[in-house]
Amino acid sequence: MARVYNFSAGPSMLFEQVLRTAQSELMDYGSSGQSVMEMSHRSSSFEGIIRETEAALRRVLGIPGNYKVGFFQGGASTQFDMVPLNLMTTGQADYIVTGNFSGRAAKEAAKFGKVNLVASSKDQNFTYIPDVDKIAYTPGASYVHICENNTIFGTRYTKLPQVPGVPLVADMSSCILSRPTDVAKYGLLYFGVQKNVAPAGMAVAVVREDLVGKAAETVPSMLNYQTILEADSMYNTPPCWCIYMMGLTLRYIEQEIGGLAEMEKRNNAKAALLYDYLDGQTFFKNPVQKEFRSIMNVTFTSPDADTDKKFCAEAAAAGFVNLKGHRLVGGMRASIYNAMPAEGVARLVQFMEDFAKKNG
Ligand SMILES: *Cc1c(COP(=O)(O)O)cnc(C)c1O
Repeated sequence: MARVYNFSAGPSMLFEQVLRTAQSELMDYGSSGQSVMEMSHRSSSFEGIIRETEAALRRVLGIPGNYKVGFFQGGASTQFDMVPLNLMTTGQADYIVTGNFSGRAAKEAAKFGKVNLVASSKDQNFTYIPDVDKIAYTPGASYVHICENNTIFGTRYTKLPQVPGVPLVADMSSCILSRPTDVAKYGLLYFGVQKNVAPAGMAVAVVREDLVGKAAETVPSMLNYQTILEADSMYNTPPCWCIYMMGLTLRYIEQEIGGLAEMEKRNNAKAALLYDYLDGQTFFKNPVQKEFRSIMNVTFTSPDADTDKKFCAEAAAAGFVNLKGHRLVGGMRASIYNAMPAEGVARLVQFMEDFAKKNG
């Protein structure tokens, strides 16, 4: 069996041991005689799975007791709607736009109230993050929304907006569990699971209790945090398989890796391999301002679009797949999430060196 190094931005690699555990439990989960894919979400087996997945997330992320955890369908994109539908109690909210997904979130929110675009990095094609201490936030805004790691442009926040009395809401789809997070700095954080946690099909929201229960009567039950959270994510059939797989990933991070501080160390080392190489040569270029470089998504370009194409094709043939950059940016993007082994990055760098020598 030849597994490739998959640099996809999402869905993306899962830890090999997580896949093996899922495989070994596929036909018969815990002597239940069934697969997790088949069992009732009301069964005691599945109740154990969902309870333990939430408990593991609470332990690994260090979620304070006054925060609720919910499992939602509709991906991170549905959270772009749920956030304003539930939290925009003053009729307006502040949005910082630093890329594609934060732009989409702002556009959705504008359907439900006034969106104040308080800062943007569009002027330099999203290659930096605005200084969050110099932004004129809106008095009376219900919340401040950011996208903490910009999957497409390869940037990340190094400081978080902290506005007294105004909760921070963050899309953490492409950076969740990549490093320790101080959950108390957020009113609400959410993430689609397919980048760093589990297969596609679910978003998770971690919501401070006092922000729940403020939605208007007209908000559909399925889009109301209160409905789902009060039912412990069992208001309807939850994404059972995703919850199970998320539990396996969390167990792996907790027991095999040893938690998020160690996870961050490994991620920093992987990112440094790639960025140090990029900084030490001239064939490939990374457009992002150094201090805002993402440790999850690394973008780069070769001298021209034809060479980019050639690079991606030859890389794929050599076992490095999904390196094509997003159509908004072009060039290449290596997504090096938690489950990408350091060896995969080291081998990619070697491949890049060889390619540059031959094509430079
Ligand atoms: C992938 C991604 C999304 C979109 O997630 P879906 O689950 O496909 O809706 C939103 N935000 C960020 C930061 C992402 O990386």
